Amino acid sequence: MLKVNLASLDFFSKKQVSLLNDLVAINKQLMPHVVAGATGCRLEEAMALLIFLYDKDLADGYILTYHSKHQDFYFMKRPLKEGLLKIDSLFCQVCEEKIENENDLLYDFEFVINKEEVKFEV
Ligand SMILES: [Zn+2]
Repeated sequence: MLKVNLASLDFFSKKQVSLLNDLVAINKQLMPHVVAGATGCRLEEAMALLIFLYDKDLADGYILTYHSKHQDFYFMKRPLKEGLLKIDSLFCQVCEEKIENENDLLYDFEFVINKEEVKFEV
């Protein structure tokens, strides 16, 4: 069991940390809106937490790229450290269209906790 102290993220209350532990016990793939929904924190607080975990090498980070025509499924998932692809090289495998306009793209983040058992505390 790895204990992770979140005291430096002072916007998380004890109750929210407990809710976060409940979430992570069943789901290691964390997107900002999922963390916000489960703990009641704001989206930017959820993102700050996930970046904190990424920085401590407790989570792997990914950029999810969505085609605006079908936003339920991303068509590309890349490690955060690789950054974004150039727009002229994008092909959507979901609808098999070449994407030429970056306005047709949406992005989100996913972080995957890479430790077996993590317990957050404040
Ligand atoms: Zn598509």
